[in-house]
Amino acid sequence: MSRSRESLCRICRTERVKLFLKGSKCLTEKCSVERRPYPPGEHGRARRRILGYGIQLREKQKLKRYYCMSEKQFRLFFKRALQKRGVTGENLLIMLERRLDNVVFLIGFSHSRAHARQLITHGHFRINGRKASIPSMLVNKGDVLSFRDKSKKHEELKAIVEFNKNKTVPGWLEVDRKKVETNILSFPTREDVTFPVEEHLVVELYSK
Ligand code: ZN
Repeated sequence: MSRSRESLCRICRTERVKLFLKGSKCLTEKCSVERRPYPPGEHGRARRRILGYGIQLREKQKLKRYYCMSEKQFRLFFKRALQKRGVTGENLLIMLERRLDNVVFLIGFSHSRAHARQLITHGHFRINGRKASIPSMLVNKGDVLSFRDKSKKHEELKAIVEFNKNKTVPGWLEVDRKKVETNILSFPTREDVTFPVEEHLVVELYSK
């Protein structure tokens, strides 16, 4: 995804929700959505009534940005979600949540999802002992995620893991801090997705 040069928390303001694009910044009052909880720009404060298409579009953009994905990649995920049995919106969220870059961020082994992606492509991770360098790959129940042996001694990585050692990790993931390994205990459920999103609006948008 092309990196936008504007402040990342400005995107939080556009979407009116904390997106954690820079990791911990959104946890503090430095996230500009706290001080100015309205979209940036001249007309940001005007109460805009967004209807139909507008609402659906905002919801899609919000979700796409939260997972740090390009439109093309996001559409591809939607297509795959559509082909699965069950509720498409729920399928989509669960697939997004299972992305390797998302998992690396959730367990606190990176500062943000974008940072997780960088670490993954640099080859720091293994799944079941095998090289895992594709950020969009999905983890499966029973998988074991670990660092490459060489990366275990990486000072920067050690510092990140230490910094996030008290991070609350969702129940479908189990982090063994001693071994610096993560067990994927199950698939996430809809309830595991804490980000406030109405996924049916995204489905409606793409179903037009
Ligand atoms: Zn923010």
